[in-house]
Amino acid sequence: MDRDADKRKERQDRRFIKRETQTAAKYLRRLRELPGAPEGMEPFYQALERIYVQLQAVEREAGRKTVGTYCVMTPPELVYAAGAVPVKLCSGDYTAFSVGDGVVARDACPLVKAVAGFQQTGLMPAYADCALMVVPVTCDCKKKIAGLLADQCEVMTLHVPASREDVDIEDFVTQLYVLMEKLEEVTGSRISYQSLAEGFGKVGYAQYELSEFIRLKKEMLYLIRGSHAMAIMNAASYMPADVWGEALGAVNQSLRKKIAQKEAVTSKKLPRILLTGSPVVFPNVKIPLLVEEAGGIVAGDETCMGERGMWDPAVITDDSFDGMIRALANRALRPCPCPSFADNARRIYRLKQLIQENRIQGVIYHVLRGCLVYDYEYKRIEEELGSLGIPVIRLESDYNEEDIEQLRIRIEAFIELIKLKQAPEKARAAERSF
Ligand code: SF4
Ligand code: SF4
Repeated sequence: MDRDADKRKERQDRRFIKRETQTAAKYLRRLRELPGAPEGMEPFYQALERIYVQLQAVEREAGRKTVGTYCVMTPPELVYAAGAVPVKLCSGDYTAFSVGDGVVARDACPLVKAVAGFQQTGLMPAYADCALMVVPVTCDCKKKIAGLLADQCEVMTLHVPASREDVDIEDFVTQLYVLMEKLEEVTGSRISYQSLAEGFGKVGYAQYELSEFIRLKKEMLYLIRGSHAMAIMNAASYMPADVWGEALGAVNQSLRKKIAQKEAVTSKKLPRILLTGSPVVFPNVKIPLLVEEAGGIVAGDETCMGERGMWDPAVITDDSFDGMIRALANRALRPCPCPSFADNARRIYRLKQLIQENRIQGVIYHVLRGCLVYDYEYKRIEEELGSLGIPVIRLESDYNEEDIEQLRIRIEAFIELIKLKQAPEKARAAERSF
Protein backbone atom coordinates (compact mmCIF):
# COMPACT_ATOMS: atom_id res chain seq x y z
CA MET A 1 0.00 0.00 0.00
CA ASP A 2 1.49 3.43 -0.91
CA ARG A 3 1.62 6.29 1.56
CA ASP A 4 -1.47 8.06 0.15
CA ALA A 5 -3.52 4.89 0.42
CA ASP A 6 -2.24 4.43 3.98
CA LYS A 7 -3.35 7.92 4.89
CA ARG A 8 -6.75 7.44 3.26
CA LYS A 9 -7.25 4.23 5.22
CA GLU A 10 -6.19 5.96 8.43
CA ARG A 11 -8.73 8.75 7.84
CA GLN A 12 -11.47 6.24 7.04
CA ASP A 13 -10.70 4.29 10.20
CA ARG A 14 -10.79 7.44 12.31
CA ARG A 15 -14.16 8.42 10.83
CA PHE A 16 -15.52 4.92 11.42
CA ILE A 17 -14.39 4.87 15.06
CA LYS A 18 -15.81 8.34 15.71
CA ARG A 19 -19.24 7.54 14.26
CA GLU A 20 -19.43 4.08 15.77
CA THR A 21 -18.46 5.10 19.29
CA GLN A 22 -20.67 8.22 19.25
CA THR A 23 -23.75 6.25 18.22
CA ALA A 24 -23.18 3.54 20.82
CA ALA A 25 -22.51 6.18 23.51
CA LYS A 26 -25.76 7.97 22.58
CA TYR A 27 -27.89 4.83 22.95
CA LEU A 28 -26.18 3.94 26.20
CA ARG A 29 -26.88 7.45 27.50
CA ARG A 30 -30.55 7.10 26.54
CA LEU A 31 -30.77 3.78 28.39
CA ARG A 32 -29.07 5.27 31.44
CA GLU A 33 -31.39 8.30 31.40
CA LEU A 34 -34.59 6.28 31.11
CA PRO A 35 -36.23 6.60 34.54
CA GLY A 36 -37.10 3.76 36.87
CA ALA A 37 -34.05 1.52 36.45
CA PRO A 38 -33.36 -0.88 39.31
CA GLU A 39 -30.09 -0.59 41.23
CA GLY A 40 -27.25 -2.70 39.87
CA MET A 41 -27.49 -1.85 36.15
CA GLU A 42 -23.97 -0.40 35.91
CA PRO A 43 -22.05 -3.69 35.20
CA PHE A 44 -24.29 -4.29 32.17
CA TYR A 45 -23.85 -0.76 30.82
CA GLN A 46 -20.12 -1.03 31.40
CA ALA A 47 -19.92 -4.32 29.46
CA LEU A 48 -21.69 -2.70 26.47
CA GLU A 49 -19.55 0.42 26.82
CA ARG A 50 -16.34 -1.60 26.91
CA ILE A 51 -17.14 -3.34 23.61
CA TYR A 52 -18.88 -0.57 21.63
CA VAL A 53 -17.50 2.71 23.02
CA GLN A 54 -14.07 1.88 24.40
CA LEU A 55 -13.51 -0.70 21.66
CA GLN A 56 -11.90 -3.24 23.95
CA ALA A 57 -11.98 -7.01 23.91
CA VAL A 58 -14.20 -8.98 26.29
CA GLU A 59 -12.95 -8.78 29.88
CA ARG A 60 -11.72 -12.16 31.08
CA GLU A 61 -9.13 -13.91 33.20
CA ALA A 62 -5.57 -13.72 31.84
CA GLY A 63 -4.69 -16.49 29.39
CA ARG A 64 -8.25 -17.35 28.39
CA LYS A 65 -9.08 -17.23 24.69
CA THR A 66 -12.39 -16.02 23.31
CA VAL A 67 -14.61 -17.96 20.92
CA GLY A 68 -17.08 -15.98 18.81
CA THR A 69 -20.57 -17.46 18.58
CA TYR A 70 -23.73 -16.52 16.72
CA CYS A 71 -27.37 -17.47 17.35
CA VAL A 72 -28.52 -19.54 20.31
CA MET A 73 -27.41 -22.97 19.09
CA THR A 74 -23.72 -22.90 20.07
CA PRO A 75 -23.56 -24.33 23.60
CA PRO A 76 -21.54 -21.93 25.80
CA GLU A 77 -20.97 -24.83 28.24
CA LEU A 78 -18.62 -26.48 25.71
CA VAL A 79 -16.64 -23.28 25.21
CA TYR A 80 -16.19 -22.84 28.98
CA ALA A 81 -15.23 -26.51 29.26
CA ALA A 82 -12.34 -25.80 26.87
CA GLY A 83 -11.15 -22.98 29.16
CA ALA A 84 -12.28 -20.25 26.75
CA VAL A 85 -14.92 -17.52 27.00
CA PRO A 86 -17.79 -17.33 24.48
CA VAL A 87 -18.68 -13.95 23.02
CA LYS A 88 -21.86 -13.61 21.00
CA LEU A 89 -21.14 -11.56 17.90
CA CYS A 90 -24.57 -10.97 16.32
CA SER A 91 -24.41 -7.21 15.91
CA GLY A 92 -26.74 -4.21 15.92
CA ASP A 93 -24.18 -1.60 14.95
CA TYR A 94 -25.27 1.11 12.49
CA THR A 95 -21.78 2.23 11.40
CA ALA A 96 -20.56 -1.32 10.79
CA PHE A 97 -23.83 -1.94 8.91
CA SER A 98 -23.10 0.97 6.55
CA VAL A 99 -19.69 -0.58 5.72
CA GLY A 100 -21.15 -4.11 5.40
CA ASP A 101 -23.87 -2.79 3.10
CA GLY A 102 -21.24 -2.43 0.39
CA VAL A 103 -19.72 -5.85 1.10
CA VAL A 104 -22.55 -8.40 1.23
CA ALA A 105 -25.66 -8.90 -0.92
CA ARG A 106 -27.99 -5.90 -1.04
CA ASP A 107 -30.95 -7.85 0.36
CA ALA A 108 -29.05 -9.50 3.23
CA CYS A 109 -30.31 -8.63 6.72
CA PRO A 110 -28.65 -5.73 8.58
CA LEU A 111 -27.43 -8.04 11.35
CA VAL A 112 -25.05 -9.86 9.02
CA LYS A 113 -24.17 -6.63 7.21
CA ALA A 114 -23.00 -5.22 10.57
CA VAL A 115 -20.97 -8.38 11.21
CA ALA A 116 -19.43 -8.05 7.73
CA GLY A 117 -18.68 -4.38 8.40
CA PHE A 118 -16.75 -5.17 11.57
CA GLN A 119 -14.85 -7.92 9.83
CA GLN A 120 -14.03 -5.68 6.89
CA THR A 121 -12.66 -2.81 9.01
CA GLY A 122 -10.88 -5.02 11.55
CA LEU A 123 -11.58 -2.27 14.09
CA MET A 124 -13.67 -4.20 16.58
CA PRO A 125 -11.44 -6.06 19.08
CA ALA A 126 -14.32 -8.33 20.17
CA TYR A 127 -14.21 -9.80 16.64
CA ALA A 128 -10.48 -9.52 15.93
CA ASP A 129 -9.66 -11.19 19.28
CA CYS A 130 -11.44 -14.50 18.57
CA ALA A 131 -9.43 -17.71 18.34
CA LEU A 132 -12.40 -19.35 16.58
CA MET A 133 -15.86 -18.37 15.41
CA VAL A 134 -18.72 -20.87 15.53
CA VAL A 135 -21.53 -20.06 13.10
CA PRO A 136 -24.74 -22.11 13.25
CA VAL A 137 -26.16 -22.17 9.73
CA THR A 138 -29.72 -21.18 10.49
CA CYS A 139 -30.56 -19.09 7.43
CA ASP A 140 -28.95 -18.10 4.14
CA CYS A 141 -27.54 -14.92 5.67
CA LYS A 142 -25.71 -16.89 8.35
CA LYS A 143 -24.45 -19.41 5.78
CA LYS A 144 -22.89 -16.75 3.59
CA ILE A 145 -21.45 -14.70 6.45
CA ALA A 146 -19.67 -17.83 7.69
CA GLY A 147 -17.85 -18.00 4.35
CA LEU A 148 -16.89 -14.33 4.56
CA LEU A 149 -15.67 -14.55 8.17
CA ALA A 150 -13.48 -17.50 7.23
CA ASP A 151 -11.33 -15.15 5.11
CA GLN A 152 -9.87 -13.69 8.30
CA CYS A 153 -10.53 -16.07 11.15
CA GLU A 154 -10.87 -19.76 11.83
CA VAL A 155 -14.57 -20.58 11.44
CA MET A 156 -16.57 -23.70 12.17
CA THR A 157 -20.14 -23.99 10.92
CA LEU A 158 -22.79 -25.97 12.75
CA HIS A 159 -25.46 -27.40 10.51
CA VAL A 160 -28.84 -26.58 12.07
CA PRO A 161 -31.52 -28.96 10.75
CA ALA A 162 -34.90 -27.70 9.58
CA SER A 163 -36.70 -30.23 11.80
CA ARG A 164 -36.18 -31.80 15.21
CA GLU A 165 -36.57 -35.52 14.55
CA ASP A 166 -34.40 -37.97 16.51
CA VAL A 167 -32.17 -38.35 13.47
CA ASP A 168 -31.58 -34.56 13.44
CA ILE A 169 -30.64 -34.56 17.11
CA GLU A 170 -28.23 -37.46 16.50
CA ASP A 171 -26.61 -35.50 13.69
CA PHE A 172 -26.26 -32.45 15.96
CA VAL A 173 -24.68 -34.61 18.69
CA THR A 174 -22.03 -35.67 16.14
CA GLN A 175 -21.44 -32.04 15.25
CA LEU A 176 -20.97 -31.10 18.89
CA TYR A 177 -18.27 -33.78 19.20
CA VAL A 178 -16.53 -32.24 16.16
CA LEU A 179 -16.87 -28.81 17.76
CA MET A 180 -15.39 -30.21 20.94
CA GLU A 181 -12.28 -31.38 19.05
CA LYS A 182 -11.98 -28.02 17.32
CA LEU A 183 -12.21 -26.18 20.65
CA GLU A 184 -9.53 -28.44 22.12
CA GLU A 185 -7.30 -27.73 19.12
CA VAL A 186 -7.59 -23.92 19.27
CA THR A 187 -7.37 -23.63 23.06
CA GLY A 188 -4.85 -26.41 23.68
CA SER A 189 -7.05 -27.63 26.59
CA ARG A 190 -8.69 -31.01 26.83
CA ILE A 191 -12.43 -31.07 27.60
CA SER A 192 -12.86 -33.48 30.51
CA TYR A 193 -15.91 -34.70 32.38
CA GLN A 194 -14.96 -32.32 35.18
CA SER A 195 -14.45 -29.25 32.96
CA LEU A 196 -17.72 -29.92 31.13
CA ALA A 197 -19.58 -30.21 34.44
CA GLU A 198 -18.03 -26.87 35.47
CA GLY A 199 -19.22 -25.35 32.18
CA PHE A 200 -22.76 -26.54 33.00
CA GLY A 201 -22.38 -25.03 36.47
CA LYS A 202 -21.37 -21.60 35.14
CA VAL A 203 -24.21 -21.37 32.64
CA GLY A 204 -26.69 -22.97 35.06
CA TYR A 205 -25.93 -20.30 37.66
CA ALA A 206 -26.64 -17.51 35.13
CA GLN A 207 -29.84 -19.29 34.08
CA TYR A 208 -30.95 -19.63 37.68
CA GLU A 209 -30.61 -15.85 38.20
CA LEU A 210 -32.44 -15.27 34.91
CA SER A 211 -35.33 -17.52 35.98
CA GLU A 212 -35.52 -15.55 39.23
CA PHE A 213 -35.51 -12.26 37.27
CA ILE A 214 -38.39 -13.52 35.12
CA ARG A 215 -40.30 -14.74 38.18
CA LEU A 216 -39.95 -11.35 39.89
CA LYS A 217 -41.17 -9.52 36.78
CA LYS A 218 -44.31 -11.65 36.88
CA GLU A 219 -44.83 -11.01 40.57
CA MET A 220 -45.39 -7.28 40.13
CA LEU A 221 -46.46 -5.57 36.90
CA TYR A 222 -44.44 -2.47 35.90
CA LEU A 223 -41.46 -3.62 37.99
CA ILE A 224 -38.85 -2.87 35.29
CA ARG A 225 -38.87 -1.33 31.83
CA GLY A 226 -38.26 -3.69 28.93
CA SER A 227 -35.50 -1.44 27.57
CA HIS A 228 -33.54 -1.96 30.80
CA ALA A 229 -34.25 -5.70 30.71
CA MET A 230 -33.00 -5.80 27.10
CA ALA A 231 -29.78 -4.00 28.09
CA ILE A 232 -29.21 -6.69 30.72
CA MET A 233 -29.83 -9.45 28.20
CA ASN A 234 -27.67 -7.87 25.49
CA ALA A 235 -24.77 -7.47 27.93
CA ALA A 236 -24.82 -11.26 28.45
CA SER A 237 -23.14 -11.56 25.04
CA TYR A 238 -20.02 -9.83 26.36
CA MET A 239 -19.74 -11.02 29.97
CA PRO A 240 -18.64 -14.42 31.28
CA ALA A 241 -21.79 -16.26 32.43
CA ASP A 242 -20.82 -16.34 36.13
CA VAL A 243 -19.96 -12.61 36.17
CA TRP A 244 -23.24 -11.81 34.41
CA GLY A 245 -25.17 -14.08 36.79
CA GLU A 246 -23.68 -12.35 39.82
CA ALA A 247 -24.57 -8.90 38.44
CA LEU A 248 -28.11 -10.08 37.70
CA GLY A 249 -28.32 -11.44 41.24
CA ALA A 250 -27.70 -7.87 42.51
CA VAL A 251 -30.47 -6.52 40.22
CA ASN A 252 -32.81 -9.25 41.51
CA GLN A 253 -32.05 -8.13 45.05
CA SER A 254 -33.03 -4.57 44.13
CA LEU A 255 -36.23 -5.84 42.44
CA ARG A 256 -37.21 -7.76 45.58
CA LYS A 257 -36.88 -4.52 47.56
CA LYS A 258 -39.04 -2.71 45.01
CA ILE A 259 -41.71 -5.40 45.31
CA ALA A 260 -41.63 -5.15 49.13
CA GLN A 261 -42.04 -1.36 48.89
CA LYS A 262 -44.59 -1.62 46.04
CA GLU A 263 -42.37 0.67 43.97
CA ALA A 264 -43.25 0.32 40.28
CA VAL A 265 -41.49 2.24 37.49
CA THR A 266 -44.73 4.13 36.87
CA SER A 267 -47.98 4.73 38.71
CA LYS A 268 -49.87 4.85 35.38
CA LYS A 269 -51.33 1.79 33.70
CA LEU A 270 -49.22 2.06 30.56
CA PRO A 271 -50.09 -0.24 27.63
CA ARG A 272 -48.09 -3.44 28.02
CA ILE A 273 -46.27 -4.44 24.84
CA LEU A 274 -44.59 -7.70 23.86
CA LEU A 275 -41.71 -7.42 21.42
CA THR A 276 -41.13 -10.38 19.10
CA GLY A 277 -39.49 -11.02 15.75
CA SER A 278 -35.98 -10.37 14.47
CA PRO A 279 -33.27 -9.91 17.10
CA VAL A 280 -32.92 -6.55 18.87
CA VAL A 281 -29.18 -6.15 19.30
CA PHE A 282 -27.40 -3.21 20.96
CA PRO A 283 -27.01 -0.42 19.89
CA ASN A 284 -30.09 -0.98 17.72
CA VAL A 285 -32.50 -0.49 20.61
CA LYS A 286 -34.54 2.22 18.90
CA ILE A 287 -37.80 0.24 18.93
CA PRO A 288 -37.98 -0.51 22.68
CA LEU A 289 -36.91 3.07 23.44
CA LEU A 290 -39.59 4.44 21.09
CA VAL A 291 -42.26 2.29 22.76
CA GLU A 292 -41.33 3.69 26.14
CA GLU A 293 -41.12 7.27 24.85
CA ALA A 294 -44.57 6.86 23.26
CA GLY A 295 -46.15 6.02 26.62
CA GLY A 296 -46.08 2.23 26.50
CA ILE A 297 -43.93 -0.25 28.34
CA VAL A 298 -42.11 -3.25 26.89
CA ALA A 299 -43.40 -5.87 29.29
CA GLY A 300 -42.24 -8.96 27.43
CA ASP A 301 -39.54 -9.89 24.95
CA GLU A 302 -39.52 -13.00 22.82
CA THR A 303 -36.47 -12.17 20.69
CA CYS A 304 -33.35 -14.35 20.59
CA MET A 305 -31.16 -11.59 22.05
CA GLY A 306 -33.60 -11.32 24.93
CA GLU A 307 -34.71 -13.82 27.53
CA ARG A 308 -35.20 -16.53 24.92
CA GLY A 309 -31.43 -16.62 24.34
CA MET A 310 -30.79 -18.18 27.72
CA TRP A 311 -34.16 -19.39 28.85
CA ASP A 312 -33.94 -23.13 28.16
CA PRO A 313 -31.70 -25.11 30.51
CA ALA A 314 -29.87 -28.24 29.34
CA VAL A 315 -31.65 -31.13 31.05
CA ILE A 316 -29.33 -33.99 31.94
CA THR A 317 -31.11 -37.34 32.16
CA ASP A 318 -27.94 -39.40 31.86
CA ASP A 319 -24.95 -37.98 33.72
CA SER A 320 -22.26 -39.64 31.58
CA PHE A 321 -20.09 -37.44 29.34
CA ASP A 322 -22.15 -38.48 26.31
CA GLY A 323 -25.35 -37.79 28.25
CA MET A 324 -24.18 -34.21 28.86
CA ILE A 325 -23.37 -33.66 25.16
CA ARG A 326 -26.80 -35.05 24.29
CA ALA A 327 -28.41 -32.67 26.78
CA LEU A 328 -26.71 -29.77 24.97
CA ALA A 329 -27.88 -30.99 21.54
CA ASN A 330 -31.43 -31.43 22.80
CA ARG A 331 -31.50 -28.00 24.41
CA ALA A 332 -30.16 -26.36 21.23
CA LEU A 333 -32.87 -27.80 18.99
CA ARG A 334 -35.97 -29.20 20.70
CA PRO A 335 -37.38 -26.18 22.57
CA CYS A 336 -35.95 -23.53 20.21
CA PRO A 337 -38.67 -21.31 18.68
CA CYS A 338 -36.35 -19.80 16.02
CA PRO A 339 -38.10 -19.40 12.68
CA SER A 340 -35.30 -21.29 10.93
CA PHE A 341 -37.18 -24.52 11.76
CA ALA A 342 -39.84 -25.60 9.26
CA ASP A 343 -42.47 -26.42 11.87
CA ASN A 344 -42.48 -23.69 14.46
CA ALA A 345 -45.77 -24.19 16.29
CA ARG A 346 -43.82 -23.90 19.55
CA ARG A 347 -43.23 -20.19 18.87
CA ILE A 348 -46.97 -19.59 18.83
CA TYR A 349 -47.32 -21.57 22.04
CA ARG A 350 -44.50 -19.53 23.66
CA LEU A 351 -46.01 -16.23 22.50
CA LYS A 352 -49.39 -17.13 23.99
CA GLN A 353 -47.68 -18.12 27.23
CA LEU A 354 -45.79 -14.79 27.40
CA ILE A 355 -48.95 -12.83 26.60
CA GLN A 356 -50.79 -14.49 29.45
CA GLU A 357 -47.97 -14.35 32.02
CA ASN A 358 -47.11 -10.70 31.34
CA ARG A 359 -50.68 -9.51 30.75
CA ILE A 360 -49.74 -8.22 27.33
CA GLN A 361 -52.12 -5.85 25.53
CA GLY A 362 -50.37 -5.51 22.17
CA VAL A 363 -47.60 -7.19 20.19
CA ILE A 364 -44.92 -5.51 18.10
CA TYR A 365 -43.63 -7.86 15.43
CA HIS A 366 -40.15 -6.63 14.48
CA VAL A 367 -38.80 -7.56 11.06
CA LEU A 368 -35.27 -6.58 10.13
CA ARG A 369 -35.23 -5.78 6.43
CA GLY A 370 -34.16 -8.95 4.59
CA CYS A 371 -34.97 -11.29 7.48
CA LEU A 372 -37.21 -13.61 5.49
CA VAL A 373 -37.59 -16.32 8.10
CA TYR A 374 -39.33 -13.97 10.53
CA ASP A 375 -41.32 -12.28 7.80
CA TYR A 376 -42.68 -15.68 6.71
CA GLU A 377 -44.07 -16.36 10.18
CA TYR A 378 -45.83 -13.03 10.51
CA LYS A 379 -49.12 -13.96 8.77
CA ARG A 380 -49.67 -17.05 10.90
CA ILE A 381 -48.90 -15.19 14.12
CA GLU A 382 -51.11 -12.26 13.13
CA GLU A 383 -54.01 -14.70 12.62
CA GLU A 384 -53.39 -16.52 15.92
CA LEU A 385 -53.15 -13.29 17.91
CA GLY A 386 -56.15 -11.86 16.08
CA SER A 387 -58.24 -14.80 17.26
CA LEU A 388 -57.25 -13.89 20.84
CA GLY A 389 -58.16 -10.23 20.30
CA ILE A 390 -54.54 -9.10 20.77
CA PRO A 391 -53.58 -6.21 18.46
CA VAL A 392 -50.38 -6.81 16.52
CA ILE A 393 -48.31 -4.50 14.35
CA ARG A 394 -45.51 -5.44 11.94
CA LEU A 395 -42.62 -2.98 12.05
CA GLU A 396 -39.92 -3.35 9.44
CA SER A 397 -36.67 -1.55 10.14
CA ASP A 398 -33.04 -1.34 9.22
CA TYR A 399 -29.82 -0.38 11.01
CA ASN A 400 -29.97 3.38 10.65
CA GLU A 401 -31.80 6.31 12.17
CA GLU A 402 -33.59 7.37 9.00
CA ASP A 403 -36.73 5.40 9.81
CA ILE A 404 -37.05 6.62 13.40
CA GLU A 405 -39.74 9.23 12.77
CA GLN A 406 -41.83 6.84 10.68
CA LEU A 407 -41.48 4.17 13.40
CA ARG A 408 -42.39 6.72 16.07
CA ILE A 409 -45.63 7.66 14.28
CA ARG A 410 -46.67 4.03 13.88
CA ILE A 411 -45.77 3.10 17.46
CA GLU A 412 -47.63 6.11 18.87
CA ALA A 413 -50.73 5.20 16.82
CA PHE A 414 -50.50 1.58 18.03
CA ILE A 415 -50.25 2.66 21.68
CA GLU A 416 -53.24 4.98 21.22
CA LEU A 417 -55.21 2.11 19.69
CA ILE A 418 -54.50 -0.06 22.74
CA LYS A 419 -55.55 2.77 25.07
CA LEU A 420 -58.81 3.17 23.15
CA LYS A 421 -59.39 -0.57 23.36
CA GLN A 422 -58.77 -0.42 27.11
CA ALA A 423 -61.19 2.47 27.70
CA PRO A 424 -64.48 0.56 27.18
CA GLU A 425 -63.05 -2.36 29.17
CA LYS A 426 -62.37 0.01 32.08
CA ALA A 427 -65.87 1.46 31.76
CA ARG A 428 -67.38 -2.04 31.85
CA ALA A 429 -65.26 -2.91 34.92
CA ALA A 430 -66.45 0.31 36.64
CA GLU A 431 -70.10 -0.56 35.83
CA ARG A 432 -69.62 -4.05 37.22
CA SER A 433 -68.22 -2.61 40.47
CA PHE A 434 -71.52 -0.73 41.16
S1 SF4 B 1 -33.72 -15.89 15.47
FE1 SF4 B 1 -32.59 -17.80 15.63
S2 SF4 B 1 -31.68 -18.02 13.65
FE2 SF4 B 1 -32.26 -15.88 13.79
S3 SF4 B 1 -30.48 -14.79 14.56
FE3 SF4 B 1 -31.70 -15.40 16.32
S4 SF4 B 1 -30.89 -17.35 17.02
FE4 SF4 B 1 -30.17 -16.99 14.94
S1 SF4 C 1 -32.56 -15.01 11.34
FE1 SF4 C 1 -32.95 -13.02 10.40
S2 SF4 C 1 -31.77 -11.57 11.62
FE2 SF4 C 1 -30.97 -13.62 12.09
S3 SF4 C 1 -29.25 -13.83 10.66
FE3 SF4 C 1 -31.05 -14.77 9.69
S4 SF4 C 1 -31.90 -13.16 8.41
FE4 SF4 C 1 -30.50 -12.18 9.88
